[in-house]
Order: sequence, then structure tokens, then C-alpha cells
Amino acid sequence: MKRILNFIDGQFRPPASGRYLPNVEPATGRVIAEIADGGPEDVDAAVAAASRAFEGWRRTPAEERSRLLLRVADLIEANFDELARLESEDSGKPIALARRMDVPRAILNFRFFATAILHAETSAHMTDDRALNYTLRQPLGVAGLISPWNLPLYLLTWKIAPAIAAGNTSVAKPSELTPMTADRLAALIAEAGIPPGVVNVVHGPGASAGRALTAHPKVPLISFTGGTKTGADVMTHAGPLFKKVSLELGGKNPNVVFADADLEQAVPTSIQSSFSNQGEICLCGSRLFVERPIYDEFLDRFLAATRRLRIGDPLDPATEVGALVSDAHRSKVEGYVALAQEEGGRILTGGKRPANLPERVRGGWFLEPTVIAGLDCSKRCLQEEIFGPVVTITPFDSPEEAIAYANSTRYGLSASVWTRDLQKAHRVAAALESGTVWVNTWLLRDLRVPFGGMKESGVGREGGFDSLAFFTEAKNVCVKL
Ligand code: NDP
Repeated sequence: MKRILNFIDGQFRPPASGRYLPNVEPATGRVIAEIADGGPEDVDAAVAAASRAFEGWRRTPAEERSRLLLRVADLIEANFDELARLESEDSGKPIALARRMDVPRAILNFRFFATAILHAETSAHMTDDRALNYTLRQPLGVAGLISPWNLPLYLLTWKIAPAIAAGNTSVAKPSELTPMTADRLAALIAEAGIPPGVVNVVHGPGASAGRALTAHPKVPLISFTGGTKTGADVMTHAGPLFKKVSLELGGKNPNVVFADADLEQAVPTSIQSSFSNQGEICLCGSRLFVERPIYDEFLDRFLAATRRLRIGDPLDPATEVGALVSDAHRSKVEGYVALAQEEGGRILTGGKRPANLPERVRGGWFLEPTVIAGLDCSKRCLQEEIFGPVVTITPFDSPEEAIAYANSTRYGLSASVWTRDLQKAHRVAAALESGTVWVNTWLLRDLRVPFGGMKESGVGREGGFDSLAFFTEAKNVCVKL
């Protein structure tokens, strides 16, 4: 059986513990690999390698760093099919989605930051005729990069590419649930000629390997994407060491459909925003709010489209809804479906484990796309992140009410607004407490724009020059004239 090892100082190495964890395919429940059970000793070794590599890498000219990152992008592209398959097997996501979204985005992440560093500018400030100030932006050292299981390669490369493009070295800790593409990426990074120690990958549980990284005194910067509760733990350990921290956390995103919306677009896109990746995308719109005059029509169309979604073997290119990432996670999501009913909600469709799955995936962790009505915004199902193929739908009567409903959670990651009225779109977008607002679309990403959450959805912004600013430190030099 395949063993997934740590990648430290350019080499694949067994974990110091000598122990391995099972890596399970969500669609079948079968063990497909063993993964290094890394911990503090492995993190120490990785941080030491990254520290040694830092001086050489930060002095490598930007043009050369760019060339190497572009080579990584080319290698991801050359191994596109294999990476898409690994991602699908490892996470339960439909291979069609991995091909359409995850792998192309990983390529783009490397290309984007490889070329961004060739165009980066810095600022200068004249103090009358007395002094010239100019700002240097310098890498910090070893970047700690912690990523979740829902978009494993997409989010890992979103961190590694800007971190090393800016001249840092790195230690990455992918989710122990989905180590496969991180392992393959490490090999491609070595093949591309990125020097040993610039990128290190330590596998293992968050509570040991992850925490060892956030608490490591020689790691001055942490970029973390994951749940809000874990984000608080990261802050607890990184805070006393005054690390630079970026947290991309959970969401409970509203999807607001006004009566004048173009339903030809709003319905299919809302299906995507509700159920893509089984609802396991932080940006999924899990709370639908629909203006009362079109509520019934929207609901009819939305339910019909939900029932048409093809659930099945993630490796079948026709599958639209795959398996949830783990048995425990499916139980958690099912718990919310039960809770919705206890809270007085009605399950309009879904809520069950699908019958008639293909033979290969009968033992997998599937759940039907689920639509729940009849709950008001105070209920836990509209307050807590479920992170599965479950949406609630609620009518509203005015823009003010829609805004109040949308803003009624502790989260503030993203929102969608559907309307043909331009003024209303701008007014509502400005009033929503969300790091990102999409108008008449969803998940349309331009990598130059700031990305991050308000309230308990995160701290800091990444994306474009915000990422390069995060992964560097500003130093002002004041020269008396
Ligand atoms: P977790 O918070 O459980 O884990 C995220 C990462 O942190 C994993 O690598 C995990 O390792 C690691 N980790 C766990 N505990 C600790 C710890 N104490 N110290 C350091 N690292 C730790 O999130 P999930 O993996 O369950 O991902 C789902 C969550 O991520 C959702 O809430 C989702 O909304 C959020 N998310 C946010 C995004 C955003 O951009 N805002 C994007 C995508 C997801 P391991 O898994 O091995 O335990």
C-alpha cells in the first residue's frame, strides 16, 4: 500500500514517530494509503531545513524565482489527469469538478504569483525637502501554511505560491484527511528545481503537527484556512509569539434573490452555490433568501433542479454530487438535518442517504442534496456552519429585511445578490457584512482582488498584492536630504 511520507529538505522522509494513519477514500470507505503521523519532531526538522534554505532563496533574483514557479505550474499541467484523479479519490469530490476547478486553479495560483512578483512596486514618500522615505518589502523567513480538506490542492497552492514567490521558505501542513495531492505536489516542486528546504510538507493531525507549527518560535508567519474554532486555537498559540497571522475561516453565506432577478441564471447558479463539492466550499451559499412574490416559483424550479442532480461515483465524469469527506462529517451534517426538524423545519427534498448507488461506492459517505424550509434566522441551522449539501430557504419582504437576515450570523465571508436593479444591487452590496459580495453570479474569482472574511470568518486579506503584502514585511528607510 502507498505510504505518504513527509517532504523535508527536498527528500521524502518517514515520520519521527514511525507511525502511520489510514487514508480513506470517502466514496468507498476503503483505506487507499497510509499517511505519516507527523508531530513536533517532524515540524522541528522541517522548520530547520526551511531556515537553512531561507538566505539562499531570499537572495535568488525575482526573475529566477518566477521561472521556477512557472515550471511548477507547467508540471501541474503536465500531470493534470493524475492530480484530478487523486483529488477526487482522496476527498470524494466529483472528478469533473476537480478537472474544472481544483487543478486549473492550482496551475493559475503558481502562474499568477510567479508573474506578480515581476510587477510588484514599492512606495516612496518625500518629507518636504528634508527627507526621502522609501519602503522595502522583505520576506519574513519560514511561513507556516495550514490548509483544509475541502479544496486541498487549490488552497495549498494559494498559500505556497505567494509565500515562496515573495522570498520566504515554507512548511506546509495539509489536512490529514486529504494528503494525496500535497504529496504529489512536493514531488513536482522537487522536479521543477525549487531548492531543497524552500517547500517542506509535514503530514499528520492538526492537534499535533498543526499546533507544533503555529506554536513554533522560528515560524514568524502563519497562513491558516479552516474552521473558526480551529482559527481561535491558532490565534491562541501564535498570538503570544506576535506572529503575523492570516485566518480564512468558516462561512454561513447568504444568497439573496430579489423578485426582479433573472431566474434563468439565478436558479442554476444557486444550485451550484448550494451543492458544489457537496456544499463543502467555504463560499457556498447555505442560506437562501427569496423575495416573497417569486418565492413559490423560485422554490419549484430550485427543487426540480436539486432533484435532477446526479449523485454517484466521484470518478464517473457525469457525477455532479460526490461523497462527503468522512463518516464523522456526514454524521455531523445529518445531525443538522435532524435538528432542523426538531426546530420546526420541513425537509422539502433530500435529507437521506441515497439509494441505488453504483456497486463500487455503496460503502461511501453520501448524502442527498437537502433543502429545508420553515425556519427563521434565529435557529441553529441558520446560524451554524453545516458545510454539507444542505440549504435553508426563507422568504423576505423588503431589501431591509433581506439585509437584516443576511447579516444575522457571526460569520461574514461571502454573499450573493440577484437583481436587475443596479441601484438596489449597489445599496445591498454595501450594507452586507461580507468580505466578498457577488452580484448576479457566484464564485467568479479574479486573483487580484482582496479575499477574506469579516466578523468570525477571518482576519486579514489575501489575493493579489494583498497576498504579497502579507507574505512580506514593510520596512521604511528614511534618508535625510
Ligand atoms: P479544520 O479547522 O478542522 O482544519 C483546517 C486545517 O487545520 C487542517 O489542516 C487541520 O489538520 C489543521 N488543524 C486542526 N487543528 C489544528 C490546530 N489545533 N492547530 C493547527 N492546525 C490545526 O477545518 P476543516 O479541515 O474541517 O475545513 C473545513 C473548514 O474550513 C470549514 O469551516 C470551512 O468553512 C473552512 N474553510 C474556509 C475557507 C476560507 O477561505 N475562508 C476556505 C475553505 C475552507 P487536520 O485536518 O489534519 O486535523
